Amino acid sequence: MNFYTTILGSGAALPTVARHCSGQVVNINGFRILLDCGENTQTQLRVYHQRMQAVSQIFITHLHGDHFFGLPGLVSSMHLCGRKEPLDVYAPAGVRAAMELLMQTSGSHLDYELRYHEIVHDEGMELLFENNRCRVSAFPLLHSVPTYGYLIEEKPRGKNPVRRYAYCTDTGYTESFLPYIEGVNLLCIESTFNNAFASVATEKLHCTTLMAATLAQKAHVGELLLTHISARFKEPELLLAEAQTVFPNTAMAADGAQHEVRYFDKIPAAGQGVSDGE
Ligand SMILES: [Zn+2]
Ligand SMILES: [Zn+2]
Repeated sequence: MNFYTTILGSGAALPTVARHCSGQVVNINGFRILLDCGENTQTQLRVYHQRMQAVSQIFITHLHGDHFFGLPGLVSSMHLCGRKEPLDVYAPAGVRAAMELLMQTSGSHLDYELRYHEIVHDEGMELLFENNRCRVSAFPLLHSVPTYGYLIEEKPRGKNPVRRYAYCTDTGYTESFLPYIEGVNLLCIESTFNNAFASVATEKLHCTTLMAATLAQKAHVGELLLTHISARFKEPELLLAEAQTVFPNTAMAADGAQHEVRYFDKIPAAGQGVSDGE
């Protein structure tokens, strides 16, 4: 397993003991990036044995607290642990002002360079980062504040075709970003609600199980991973079963689980079940 995501938080806005707020470490052939940084991300990194200082690129989908409130604490702890290497943060416009106010008000300083890359485009896909392991691009989602999905593509190694991982949260149902996630090996998308809450989801610009599964089906992805599960659901396996009625190759994220971005020829066929890649 050399291209995989480790789930740090799979819950929605209200964290619970079982599901923390959004965060994932994606390992692309040894290079690690952090997707989202909800409250408690720094301790979740420790719990799941992910080296904090190994992360040099952080991509925040949007500035709602459950995706962003962990960032001030994480950058401060990186300083306390002796970081000297620069850190790049990609996020919607406003991240710099919010962070600088917090750092100034709290009298914090950092002994390393924190570089902000504010994303402002409102249509199309934009390449944000590229090195010898991967490319990371952003595209707009449909939410109540500016929000971006991320596409992580590995660089070709030998004769292997490249695998692609798409991370889309938070978003209401829209087919506007289907072209950017077409045929990805693994699609992680929010499923805050079950189908009984479809009207609430539409109003609040979130997805249900069936909306997420429909997007996966229409985009012809290899596997679907549901995340951002509302704290109201005490039996999340029911949400998984609901999504699988539309898109069988679906798994549900759980804090601490790891999911490989698999080649298409290694993805189990519909109905044969899906392991979590561990
Ligand atoms: Zn959220
Ligand atoms: Zn949100």
